[in-house]
Amino acid sequence: MLRFAVAGCPHSTPPPKGTVEGIHRAKALGITAMEIEWVQSVPKSPERMEEIRSTARKLDITLTVHAPYFVNLNSPDPITLAASIQRVVTALSMSQLAGARSVCVHPAFYLGMPPKTAYGNVSRATEKILKQKSKLFPDVNLAYETMGKPTQFGTLEEVLKLSKEFDLYPTVDPAHMHARTNGKINTTEEWNDMFDLYEKYLGTKSLKYVHMHYSGIAYGPKGEKHHIPLQESDARWEDFLAVLKRRKIEGTVVCESPLLEADTLLMAREYARKN
Ligand SMILES: [Zn+2]
Repeated sequence: MLRFAVAGCPHSTPPPKGTVEGIHRAKALGITAMEIEWVQSVPKSPERMEEIRSTARKLDITLTVHAPYFVNLNSPDPITLAASIQRVVTALSMSQLAGARSVCVHPAFYLGMPPKTAYGNVSRATEKILKQKSKLFPDVNLAYETMGKPTQFGTLEEVLKLSKEFDLYPTVDPAHMHARTNGKINTTEEWNDMFDLYEKYLGTKSLKYVHMHYSGIAYGPKGEKHHIPLQESDARWEDFLAVLKRRKIEGTVVCESPLLEADTLLMAREYARKN
């Protein structure tokens, strides 16, 4: 089954607009998944996590998490690096308690280093993070995201290679790939190539539990500017949905449009309509 997730609490969530209220609202709207946006910080109350977990389970809402933005696993500064590793570990640990299956992480910036050097640094940091897996987050996937700016570590190959090395799966964001390449990756053929490469690295079965992002996006020569509504963008989103359907992709696609529930439902309904 493929689920379309709203990126955070729906706009129409009643106050106090917390994650639990958001899950209830998503359910009422007919949405079946939600990405929890811990992009500024990760809450640390185990009781609250238990409340999220039981609510999502009761309402059959699949949960994923977006980890804090303040992460650079390629930082040459030991303090920044240790803090980055800790933020990722905390996001993964709290996700375990909240019942989320996968955590999206922006891995790093190149900082002018050759991509190979950055890869080595991110790989060593990943090893440190995963040392804590069996104790703190045995059931949660660490999903490195494909990033929207050429200054950011996170090409499709980089995140696939890392994922293969550590037995993980990435957050592939075709909107970011579209922005990073200043307008490519917006056709059926290119998305098929993308999924072919994914399959080549991670195996055929891996396309049955994806954690993806999608939305419209504004971009320029320096890549991503910001996410925009599907229908105001140049994204050939209906063609993208057709590829998902034809290849029988399963898992979660998070709709990162600023319209939140409106575009999540637009995607879910259009997907359901396709043969
Ligand atoms: Zn992201």
